[in-house]
Amino acid sequence: MPATDTLSSEQVIDLAKRYLIGNYTRYPVCLVRGEGSWVWDAEGNRYLDFFPGWGCGILGHCPPRVVEAVREQVATLIHVPNTWYTEPQALLARALSERTDFGGVCFFCNSGTEANEAAIKLARLNGKPKGKYKILTFTGSFHGRTMGALTATAQPKYHAGVEPMLPGFVYAPFGDLAAAEKAIDAETAAVLLEPIQGEGGVNPAPPGFLEGLRELCDKNGMLLMLDEVQTGMGRTGAWFAHQHWKVQPDVVTLAKALAGGVAMGGVIARPDVGEKLKPGTHAATFGGNPLAARAALATIEAIEQDGLLDRAVRIGERFAARFQALKAKCPLVLDVRVKGTMIGLELAVDGAPVVQGCLAKGLLVNCTHQTVIRLLPALTLTDEQVDEGCDVLDDVVLNLKA
Ligand SMILES: *Cc1c(COP(=O)(O)O)cnc(C)c1O
Repeated sequence: MPATDTLSSEQVIDLAKRYLIGNYTRYPVCLVRGEGSWVWDAEGNRYLDFFPGWGCGILGHCPPRVVEAVREQVATLIHVPNTWYTEPQALLARALSERTDFGGVCFFCNSGTEANEAAIKLARLNGKPKGKYKILTFTGSFHGRTMGALTATAQPKYHAGVEPMLPGFVYAPFGDLAAAEKAIDAETAAVLLEPIQGEGGVNPAPPGFLEGLRELCDKNGMLLMLDEVQTGMGRTGAWFAHQHWKVQPDVVTLAKALAGGVAMGGVIARPDVGEKLKPGTHAATFGGNPLAARAALATIEAIEQDGLLDRAVRIGERFAARFQALKAKCPLVLDVRVKGTMIGLELAVDGAPVVQGCLAKGLLVNCTHQTVIRLLPALTLTDEQVDEGCDVLDDVVLNLKA
């Protein structure tokens, strides 16, 4: 058998079921091609994608600038280890640093969970001389699947069966500043949280929470570390979501949208914190490779040159108006939470039938936390596409049975 061939969806699904480990729940659809917010399956059916690449496709599928940059780079230099300097990596570090308000310095890896592992190490290395090693995280969080980031993820369902978890983590309810204060002690090195919880159901930090944590960190010599793997790179209408709160973090972690759909993760740290990662303390073989770095540079360029931070805000306003109108008509819609292109529609019922109903009508959406329909659409989504998808969602949600 040749390694690649043109197969029907049915043949692909049959192979996958036979040869892949079954750790994912998949829809019986085989996708073959994408362009912007459209994606096609092997049978030629077209779908409108409100969740491109699980949040990685911030510019939609195959964005032309990223495609061009990768095409050029792949024929020039794909990968060299970090024993050498490369221009794309240096340019990317500067580009990210200049878009923070704290002149951060960067470390690159390949995924969100890896970025958070690096942050956990930073917290421990930074805290060590003061006897601090514990990290405070919050209920409903999601930080990744490797053992450190998974321990940081304060959701028992993700820990079940793979215990014991890593020592040195403490948890408090998200949004509860008094509980956070109670959970810390002299050994707490850092607080790690998403400014808007993604997987937890699109929950923004309530007013005063981030500010309060910043104060708590300052008072107790702890680092404020923000997981912006989902909220970063313009998703919410600012380069980083924490910029909406005007709170300065000490460490920010990135991945998902960072390289416009190419695998990449990163950490941006305050320079005096970043310097704690010295030669020998941490590394990632593929981290910051020229291919991913060029893709990330092209992503930043596209967002900036096409005015997409502002566009993210407009897209969010349009969705908010549509969903508020739906909520007024439908008692099953409990809440609408929108920050730019990070969008949650909380239902009184299980959201899985909504995802199925939309799929049957050619619209791709996500459901998280059982009852929250989550959208992370491309910043290039048009008004017409917003309306077309919202018409489908209206139809599906209005026909839900309580
Ligand atoms: C997706 C996600 C992660 C994990 O990223 P991976 O690339 O899957 O390891 C971590 N934190 C947040 C907030 C995420 O949304």
